[in-house]
Amino acid sequence: MAAEPDSAPQPPNAGPSYGPMSERHWSRARRDSNREAIDYYRERSKAPGVAEGGAERNFYCMRCDGVIAYTHSAPNCPHCGEPIDEHVKRYFNWVEINEPPPSDFLPLLKLGSALLAALVAVGALLWWWLA
Ligand SMILES: [Zn+2]
Repeated sequence: MAAEPDSAPQPPNAGPSYGPMSERHWSRARRDSNREAIDYYRERSKAPGVAEGGAERNFYCMRCDGVIAYTHSAPNCPHCGEPIDEHVKRYFNWVEINEPPPSDFLPLLKLGSALLAALVAVGALLWWWLA
């Protein structure tokens, strides 16, 4: 079924999609929306290290928003001295929390204890049966 070109509903005041940008273009129509988000990013642009640029995978300080290189190994922020949690990294628009897995010792101890108890039980049964 072929669509008829003139049957599609048109938005009010729909004009041509060519020519100079009108006030209906999204960049002009939404000029005053999301002011809070725009202000937030403008403030973040002033954080230490942002003007100098960064590298891939750099992250940001939780306190001063400063840029920290991914290979930064010191325990504190190079800008404000805030201690850096090595398991929590704040990237541009998300936070990564790496929780190291707990030790395998306790589950292995439980399994080993159960196996040892079973072995002792079988040994005691054999000793009782053969004696
Ligand atoms: Zn900092």
